[in-house]
Amino acid sequence: MILEITGIGTEMQGVGRTEDGQVVFVPMALPGETVDVEIVHRSDRILEGRIREILTPSPDRVQPICPLYGQCGGCKTQHMSYDLSLALKRQIVTQQVERIGRLKDPCIYPTEASPKPWKYRNKGEFAVATDARTGTPGVGVFERKSHTVLPMQDCLLHDDLSTRALRVINKWMHAYCIPAADTPGAGGGVRHVVTRVSRADGLMLILSTTSRRIRALDPLISMLSTEFGEKIHSLYQIVLKDRPADALDGRCILLAGKRVLIDRLAGLSFAISPRTFFQVNMVQTDRLYEYVREAAALTGREFVLDAYCGCGTISLALARDAARVIGVELNEGAIEDAKENANRNGLWEKAEFYAGDAGVKVVELIDQGLRPDVLVVDPPRKGIDARLLSAIVKGQISRVVYVSCNPGTMARDIQRLTEEGAYRLEYIKPVDMFSQTEHVECVARLTRTAQA
Ligand code: SAH
Repeated sequence: MILEITGIGTEMQGVGRTEDGQVVFVPMALPGETVDVEIVHRSDRILEGRIREILTPSPDRVQPICPLYGQCGGCKTQHMSYDLSLALKRQIVTQQVERIGRLKDPCIYPTEASPKPWKYRNKGEFAVATDARTGTPGVGVFERKSHTVLPMQDCLLHDDLSTRALRVINKWMHAYCIPAADTPGAGGGVRHVVTRVSRADGLMLILSTTSRRIRALDPLISMLSTEFGEKIHSLYQIVLKDRPADALDGRCILLAGKRVLIDRLAGLSFAISPRTFFQVNMVQTDRLYEYVREAAALTGREFVLDAYCGCGTISLALARDAARVIGVELNEGAIEDAKENANRNGLWEKAEFYAGDAGVKVVELIDQGLRPDVLVVDPPRKGIDARLLSAIVKGQISRVVYVSCNPGTMARDIQRLTEEGAYRLEYIKPVDMFSQTEHVECVARLTRTAQA
């Protein structure tokens, strides 16, 4: 059928409607285009189409530059101009806040462009698997919606240190017949390679394996130092649990080099251990935190509570302009890092950190009568814990700064905070932290209303 693309879906698919009003999602089609599509999937309410021919291309359509674009699931906006991707991210945020957040005409500012929309990622998680055709193990990226690993020479999202490390690992695995975890009869092997890069320190490399023993470790260490010299900062092994929750879920062993990686953010210095969350796009995080500071509007007298604080980055960035900050975080290792970071930056007198579930620990602090002036929440993709949301609605916190990497769950939580009039959404600032992908980061400012 011939379709006019009039909208955008949350995964950057074009959206059109059939003559009888049914919604059709068309991956890779852009708003304003007329396309000839073949329907490849049909459910009760929604159709999915595949482009057969673009009859009228958008002036914003561009040639993707990665040879794996469309095959690898990582990038979603290489077929459009960077400016259009920014505009569409804002549109996605607006749609979510209007539909899920049930707010009319929310104030959504233009998406903050990134000065470095390529090669910006400081963390890579790569899959190791046996190539079905050649039978040899290798490191690469997952093919979209599958478990097949595509071998990869370069990636335009990752820092060069990460992709260079992958090439070394591939060479090492081939030269010494290192098995992948799925190699039949090997009794264990490498399942993931995780890279973390610091602008100041270089590379932390983590091999996650299904058994403790790794063959040919010394040659690997010497191959890494030949390739990177001083830039190889540490080599870790994670021995994965039986049913790991993620690529780093297991016993953590330092094989060579230093324990933590040091990087700078917001003018402060941070120590990061292998399993601690750290923002992936450093240049843009500096800007993101500027927007967080603007939203928090501190004068030096405030008490700030930072739920989901990771290794204390936002807490400490705000501590300079606050009287006191408390950070809460589920990951105990990250809380150790946060305490070390408070000392490292001379902010230990102002900052306290607690390990705990935000839905329990922060609620407990509020129930005990702690009255922060500003609450910062920066939850994982699933959004804020329901128990914490009701404590916020009941509590007397005048400002909530919501930092989010998922506009859908942010919109849901904003709906809960605003539905009975306790809070008013002032604005949302989208920031392009994940260029070339469908993802967008947001800073929302909510203030308590007089009636509440
Ligand atoms: N604000 C930090 C971290 C944000 S990422 C930064 O900008 O770097 C979200 C963090 O929430 C992660 O560190 C994750 O470990 C933590 N987290 C996940 N679930 C949690 C929970 N239930 N309670 C508290 N923290 C949680």
